[in-house]
Amino acid sequence: MSELADLYQDIRVCQKCILSQGRTNTVPGEGPESADIMFIGEGPGFHEDRQGRPFVGAAGNYLNELLEKIGFEREQVYITNVVKCRPPGNRDPQPEEIEACRPYLDKQIDLIRPRLIVTLGRFSMQRYFPGASISRIHGRPKRVGNVIYYPMFHPAAALHQPRWRSLVEEDILKIPDLLAKLDEIEEEEPALPEAEQLSLF
Ligand code: URA
Ligand code: SF4
Repeated sequence: MSELADLYQDIRVCQKCILSQGRTNTVPGEGPESADIMFIGEGPGFHEDRQGRPFVGAAGNYLNELLEKIGFEREQVYITNVVKCRPPGNRDPQPEEIEACRPYLDKQIDLIRPRLIVTLGRFSMQRYFPGASISRIHGRPKRVGNVIYYPMFHPAAALHQPRWRSLVEEDILKIPDLLAKLDEIEEEEPALPEAEQLSLF
């Protein structure tokens, strides 16, 4: 079995947080192990929980449409979420649930080694852009090491908010160019710890 398949098996039997109690199926994620792009959403909804696959409901159909706009088939990209089990009633995932599930996402990133990580919505954005406001930073890529992190609005939010919809569509259209220029985007300076910053004055 591949390491990714092993990981899916670990997720399937996971009981590290209370989301295990209400799930029908775990939703580990899907896509090729060699994908260049990884999309990270929030968590499974009703249809995802039923089918054990990410982004298969309305938000998923819209994500497929967005991918089509940039000439990608869904099968070419890797799609996952910050939590692998459905929060009851689609409530927000809680910090302790995201933390419990984090090692699975870390391992997926390690194994797939995407060059572009697209965060969909606030919960996955917070991981790479702590404290940021999505209205302010969506569509602005940040490079760390060899990976570009690219925050976008969540497609479900965009479906319900015409204003965000046009922003999501603008942002997705920038992806081909980002991929083409992966090596040109400058690496961000790591932020200085506060104590060090103070000592500069
Ligand atoms: N919304 C998400 O964030 N993830 C899914 O898998 C489906 C809808
Ligand atoms: Fe385990 Fe993640 Fe599911 Fe919680 S959400 S039970 S940590 S797989």
